[in-house]
Amino acid sequence: MRDKNNIKPGQIQGQKNLWEMVIGLEIHAQISSNSKLFSGASAQFGKQANENVSLVDAAMPGMLPVINEYCIKQAIKSGHALNAKINKFSVFDRKNYFYADLPQGYQISQYKSPIVGQGSIKINDFENNEKIVGIERLHLEQDAGKSLHDQHPSKSFIDLNRTGVALMEIVSKPDLRSPEEAASYVKKIRSILRYVRSCDGNMEEGSLRADCNVSVRRLGEEFGTRCEIKNLNSTKFITQAIQYEAERQVEILEEGGKINQETRLFDTSTGQTRSMRNKEDAHDYRYFPDPDLLPLELEETLINKIKDELPELPDKLSERLINEYKITPYDAAVIVEEREFADYYEIAAQDRDGKLVANWMITELFGAIKKENLSFNDNPVPPQNLNELVFLIENNTISGKIAKEVFLQMMKTSKKPKDIVKEKGLEQVTDDSVIEGYIDSVINDNRDKVEEYLNGKDKLFGFFVGQVMKVSQGKANPNLVNQLLKSKLK
Ligand code: ADP
Ligand code: MG
Repeated sequence: MRDKNNIKPGQIQGQKNLWEMVIGLEIHAQISSNSKLFSGASAQFGKQANENVSLVDAAMPGMLPVINEYCIKQAIKSGHALNAKINKFSVFDRKNYFYADLPQGYQISQYKSPIVGQGSIKINDFENNEKIVGIERLHLEQDAGKSLHDQHPSKSFIDLNRTGVALMEIVSKPDLRSPEEAASYVKKIRSILRYVRSCDGNMEEGSLRADCNVSVRRLGEEFGTRCEIKNLNSTKFITQAIQYEAERQVEILEEGGKINQETRLFDTSTGQTRSMRNKEDAHDYRYFPDPDLLPLELEETLINKIKDELPELPDKLSERLINEYKITPYDAAVIVEEREFADYYEIAAQDRDGKLVANWMITELFGAIKKENLSFNDNPVPPQNLNELVFLIENNTISGKIAKEVFLQMMKTSKKPKDIVKEKGLEQVTDDSVIEGYIDSVINDNRDKVEEYLNGKDKLFGFFVGQVMKVSQGKANPNLVNQLLKSKLK
């Protein structure tokens, strides 16, 4: 449906009308912390089942939750990074429901009074224009456990390692208008949380997952009824699920039907969403303030201190790199996606042509890393070596073409570019007399072509340049070759 009649991302041309998507996201981000939100048990991923379970997590009678101060600070830090209001007064509520992997019979969450209020972040829309997306709130809550249905033919097992792990739920306003915007919103939130180190953003391990609320409307009309697609853990699935869901809704509406407000699941194998529960059987969670926990009151000095200690965030950093190193906004966006990339870049670009370093990093280095299936941390080329390679290009020791060869060796061996150039004798030849020697031999071997050239066949000049480069094994300085050939062939 998408590409017909030049419609924009997020629009759907139905049989009768042109429709637009309206999307709001609820992101669950696991807080990076050694221990859980209300117990001292470890929050580490990948342990043996039920290894990280304290009596509080297992909801033994008489156990009391104790708030983890570090998690509170992480939430405040994240709130600041989302340009949001930090609420000095917030409340922990019990959200009551029964589930086998929730031994308490309720989840401790925040309902009417969250720790963080309204904020906003910047993303780029499909035309690469800046777009502000509103944040409704950020609240703290406990994660639930995990039911394992595939371990035994007739029994289900329960793993409580995740029970009680601290989550931040970040709720956006319904400001997103296409699957692509939703994906770039998730990437930006992930990047911001990673910069402030409040969440590792590891989507495969479930540290960051999103519920996507989707509705459609005819252009310019009121918002329609939304459906919520639960628990998506990759930007690819988020994009697919939203597109499918919006098209499904358009079809129903154009046939005169109505959208049921419901919770849906995305089936990654079919690319479709299906109903999980509708509003009629939606839970009545009977929220009430948890009597075991006092309201959380924060001091202004703490709130401000955490704000003062915030690191440089991606937007600011991007602006600075563009100004300082004269790179394009596109280059900057790629480089600031991860703090580690930016740190690498700044070492590699020191005293070098910033644009040239950005090109080498984005095209050659990232290309090679991807090809070798490495993670950035296992990159065999330290930034000092990339810096040196670009220096060798800048001072004409090697040509750009030879540099690519040297770079492949750097990837393979982790050696310094200078050593590789020396070992392999790859220095660029800039000595006039040596190049003239190459030219003489080419002229000798191609008497007939020289004749033709002198009789006016100018096109042959490129042929001579190519031959001289070949004789020099690619090492002659191309500018000098051009210059010297011209005077020799007069
Ligand atoms: P609830 O408490 O039922 O989950 P909220 O008002 O908190 O409802 O909204 C949850 C999410 O749904 C928010 O991210 C919000 O932006 C989004 N949302 C609200 N209305 C719509 C709509 N009409 N279409 C799409 N998303 C919506
Ligand atoms: Mg909701």
